[in-house]
Parts: sequence; C-alpha cells; structure tokens
Amino acid sequence: MKLSVLGCGAPVSHLPNVNTQSPSAYILEWGHGGKLLLECSTGIQDRLKKKGFDIAEIQHIFLSHIHTDHVGGFPSLYQDLWLNTLWEKSDERRLKASSTRTIYCSRQTSTNLLKILRLLMPESKGRLYPYPELNFVDIQNKARLELNGAKLTTVPTFHGSGMVRSLAIRVENYEGVFVYSGDTGICQGIEDICRGADLFLCEACAITDAEMRARGHLTPKQAGLLAKNGGVKKLVLTHLAAPRLHDLEPVIQEALSSGFAGKIQIAQDGDVINLP
Ligand SMILES: [Zn+2]
Ligand SMILES: [Zn+2]
Repeated sequence: MKLSVLGCGAPVSHLPNVNTQSPSAYILEWGHGGKLLLECSTGIQDRLKKKGFDIAEIQHIFLSHIHTDHVGGFPSLYQDLWLNTLWEKSDERRLKASSTRTIYCSRQTSTNLLKILRLLMPESKGRLYPYPELNFVDIQNKARLELNGAKLTTVPTFHGSGMVRSLAIRVENYEGVFVYSGDTGICQGIEDICRGADLFLCEACAITDAEMRARGHLTPKQAGLLAKNGGVKKLVLTHLAAPRLHDLEPVIQEALSSGFAGKIQIAQDGDVINLP
C-alpha cells in the first residue's frame, strides 16, 4: 500500500511567513489495481496532474464530510471529466473518463453535494451531466465494503459540533492496515477504527483541548493517545492548523507527550508514504 499526499493543509492559501499546504487530498494505492482518492479539495485536478495521476483513472472517491476543504474541488473535477468525455480523442481514455464514479460518503454529504452540482448548472433544470454517472454509496452508519481485494470499513465520527456527518475509513488487505481519520474529535468511532493500524493518517487541527471538544478536532497529543491506545505502528499527523506549520518540532513533541512510542511523521504535500 502506498499513500500519496496531495494536500495535508487546513483551508488557508496564504499566511505571511507560513509555508501553507494545500487542502485535503490523498491517494491510496494497493495491489490488484486498488486506487482510492481520499477527499477532493479545490484545485484537485492540477495536483493530481503534477503527481502523475490521470483523472480518468480515478474511479473511486472517499469524501469524509461536506466541508469546503474536503469537497470544494468535486464540482470542477466532475465538469472536467464530462469535458474529457467530449474532447478526448483516445477511445480507451474517453471510456475511462465516462465510466461511473463511485463515491463513498455520508447521506448528508451526497445530498448536499448533489444540490451544489445542480445549483452550478441551472440551465440543466435539475439534470446532471450524462457522463460520468455518479454512484453515491451513502453511508448512514458503519459500513463494510470491498474494493480491489481490500476490505473498506467506515465509522461515523464527531465533527462540526456534532452537526456534520463525518466518516473515518479503514482499508486493509494482505499488505497492511491503513486508517484515515477525516476530521474528528475524540469519539468511540475513531478509537475503534484505528486499532492495529500500520499507518494511521490522523488529523491534528486543534490547537487547544477546548477547541477540540467544541468543534470536533484533535490536538497532536490526542492523536498520539489514540495511536498509543490503538497499538498503531506509525502515526502520520495531518491537517495541522496553518499557524503551526512554521515550526513542526513542537507538534512532534506534543504528540510524543501522549506516551506513543511508535513512529511519528508530519505529512507534507508531495510526500509518498509506503506501508508498513
Ligand atoms: Zn471539517
Ligand atoms: Zn477539514
């Protein structure tokens, strides 16, 4: 299994003296042709292209929740795929661009995303593009799915003051166990799903515990505690608040103060991380 980091940042494009990172997007690849785009933030096509990924090849997408920094690029990716089906000269690639996209997300995410897509194309009177079709796998609660020989499990987590239906995802096969937190605070879902992960990609967006409790984000120490209690092998912190990006060492130290003794890394745009 291999994780490519296309965007590990919080939703801010420019802060003076801060090396800001792109908003959320990752690609997880595994044997038997498994490829899953995790999140679809603004500018996703450019970042995919720069890293050598073809949007026509991206058939499966996981969206943890509806917030802009996680789904803001979906409408333009969708439009881009439609235009590819019109203008691509290669039959093979045109077929790939036009094939149904499967999107794993909560019912709240799919409902709102479909509303947004329709609002963006009023001339279509409620119809979407004929291609690609969008197959939303609406996840109301826990789900167990299979994709290219890997088992996919999702659980609801606590985020957006409890008003946002957010999901974490676990992908496992003979190569290892990968878990991505999405945006979450401490809750039973995230405690359960990260158990035994070889690689736990975990948000650490909160700066204070009070902020974490109120809005549903984790501090680096909370992420470390989850990893410690879950027996995680490697913790990759992501989605840091932008003001923390200029000095990463205190973030590592805070995560280590949890007592977690495994490997810790802070994700950076462009990273490629292999499992285990
Ligand atoms: Zn969020
Ligand atoms: Zn977020």
